Amino acid sequence: MEFQAHQIKDILKIDYRYTMGGQSKFFIELMNNKKLLGTKCTKCGKIWMPPRMNCSECYEPAEWVEMKQTGTIDVSTIVWYTTSAFIKAIPYGIGFIRLDGADTAMLQGIFSESLIPSKVKKGKKVKAVFQKEREGKMTDFFFVPEDEYEDWIAKPEYEGGSE
Ligand SMILES: [Zn+2]
Repeated sequence: MEFQAHQIKDILKIDYRYTMGGQSKFFIELMNNKKLLGTKCTKCGKIWMPPRMNCSECYEPAEWVEMKQTGTIDVSTIVWYTTSAFIKAIPYGIGFIRLDGADTAMLQGIFSESLIPSKVKKGKKVKAVFQKEREGKMTDFFFVPEDEYEDWIAKPEYEGGSE
């Protein structure tokens, strides 16, 4: 007689936590105070955004610094295919944004009311907009073209940062 494994359909639910480790301060300040923190190398002075605990060039410790919430798009694209988490947002822009004063660029979403490639192209000035309900995650904020900023923070679910 051929072996047949008996199967029972069930649901596995897993509650878990993960930590942001040494970068926790970035997420806590984002969530509680709508601040964007980078780090500055204590030796060469390079400003890392996203923050690094140690300078990736000279390996010395870096200290926390508050960043401006305006920046420039280094490179970008428009997203049409995404995960279930962002499916309602498509199409949206995504790009590497260099915050004013930073030496490196961070990958983040760029939203626009009238999304066309010229709205999110290289060199465009952008500004951070924050969710009113924040959880200490990267999705707590996103960037918008600077000329749309006032419109975005007027929406009930969003607000401007602390500057
Ligand atoms: Zn350094």
